[in-house]
Amino acid sequence: MILLRKVTPTFQPAYDFLCPQRIVFGWGRREQVGELARTLGHRAFLVNGSRTLERSRVVEDLGERLKKEGVEPVEIGSIAHEPEVEDVDNLASRLRELGAGEGDLLVAIGGGSAIDLAKAGCAMATNTESPTVKDYLEGVGVGLALEKDPLPLLAMPTTAGTGSEATKNAVISSYDPLFKKSLRSDRMVPRVVIVDPELHVSVPAKTTAYTGMDAITQLIESYISVRAKPLPQALSLQGLALAAPSIVRAVKDGGDREARERMAHAALLSGMALANSGLGMAHGVAPALGIHSRVPHGLACAVMLPVALRTNSGVRAAEIAQLAEGICGRKFARAAEAVDATVERIEQLCDEVGIPRTLGEIGVRREQLPAIVKSSYGNSMSGNPRKIPEDELTSILERML
Ligand SMILES: [Zn+2]
Repeated sequence: MILLRKVTPTFQPAYDFLCPQRIVFGWGRREQVGELARTLGHRAFLVNGSRTLERSRVVEDLGERLKKEGVEPVEIGSIAHEPEVEDVDNLASRLRELGAGEGDLLVAIGGGSAIDLAKAGCAMATNTESPTVKDYLEGVGVGLALEKDPLPLLAMPTTAGTGSEATKNAVISSYDPLFKKSLRSDRMVPRVVIVDPELHVSVPAKTTAYTGMDAITQLIESYISVRAKPLPQALSLQGLALAAPSIVRAVKDGGDREARERMAHAALLSGMALANSGLGMAHGVAPALGIHSRVPHGLACAVMLPVALRTNSGVRAAEIAQLAEGICGRKFARAAEAVDATVERIEQLCDEVGIPRTLGEIGVRREQLPAIVKSSYGNSMSGNPRKIPEDELTSILERML
């Protein structure tokens, strides 16, 4: 029997920690976008995330605030789906045509998709050895590295989930050939981040649920990852204590300011945690479910999280137990009891925010499983505490159908 140790995350006496140079967090703080953009350049290419934003005048306001501070806004792209190779290549070629370089920056306003598109655009504007981002992606293409610093990016997330505003990668999909891979470099962390939870008030309940569960999955998986580090672990403890009691409130009442603030902060912390510690099994399988069964990222993570916790509980019981108090809101005497309660609480949260428990309910078909398994072994799976052979993953997923 493992007795529950005090919360003393793994201490490593040597590590690196990457994060944005400046984080500006708080309700209404998008007002400062002009002065903050001015510190990065005098022409700002705007990438935004959905038509809703345009309708709600947020993008127009943003342009006015930039102009007031002497920064010229240039609307250059908008995206309503997870970015694909073609989206990045089109954005990069427009940036190159416009002579983007010294004195220019990008401003991304939107969810993870818009921020990832902008991050990839910033990198491809200055790294011009190939016309396509495919050649720079992990595990596909010719494996080119980003040799030059990307254009600086100011990111303003409008959802609380992916944490992309604080990470060093952009996830790029392709449907022919099929892959979902990262463009990754330490140089890609956004320079300035404005997290204004007021922007999240109009996010629909379903998106709030998916993105919020993504953040929770990231906080947990980075904490137990084989690459876990002390600083990100401290962030995860705080992030989970904020997110677990708030996600249901944010889903049920989008106007609940405190819940939105807590989820926004937890998501930001989850980005910093995953960028420095990596992830695990749920994030290994999620892109495969995205590419082969078109399951949105956050939904895929949420459906996989309980099984990922159970699969790793044998080798990470003490660490999962350390997270239990934040997730369950009470203390436990024994690790085994804490692990069981944590998995149950996560399942309960999924039920309360409308996340199904089976793969069948999210559109996954049995004949897709072999391809899903094959595509699950990327960077995230390599951070999973337990090595999971393909045949074991196949039977895990079969049981989830
Ligand atoms: Zn994620």
